[in-house]
Amino acid sequence: MLQCGLFEGSMTENERDQIAHVFREVVALASTAMQAGQSPFSAIIVANGQVLARGVNQTRSGKNPTLHAEMVAIAEACKAHGMEALAGSTAICSCEPCPMCLMALYYSGVASVLFGASLQDAIANGSGDPPIPSKTLIELGDLPIEIDQVGDEGAEAIIRLFRQKIERDGEL
Ligand SMILES: [Zn+2]
Repeated sequence: MLQCGLFEGSMTENERDQIAHVFREVVALASTAMQAGQSPFSAIIVANGQVLARGVNQTRSGKNPTLHAEMVAIAEACKAHGMEALAGSTAICSCEPCPMCLMALYYSGVASVLFGASLQDAIANGSGDPPIPSKTLIELGDLPIEIDQVGDEGAEAIIRLFRQKIERDGEL
């Protein structure tokens, strides 16, 4: 069972089940991205029990360093549903958002973020992200975003992908 402080008490069991289900899809997306030669990062944006968009890292295939999974998911959600649909939504991410993505989630109106691996986990596995924890940025900017990490099991699933990627390509 997915352990997650953010949603405890504020969500029904059904909603928690849905989040757990979506997180499993996040792991599968990250794994598929890795098989395709990309970095194992993914994000799914949900609102009112519906998936608005899915995104995987496309920095290599798109030849664009800003195409992190969250940025791709935001763009897809806007294209498919309009910018307004993101207000109050939840982003479920394979990894804690980097500063660029966290601010993009803020500008999009995303209200809550749930992630698997931490930024520290990514950095420990060779990611070039600046070591600025999302909670620090949220506090500094007084941003109206709730953020939490899924339990150890979810984090471990993503960290395993990080290690596989490093083993295969020598870089995350
Ligand atoms: Zn990012």
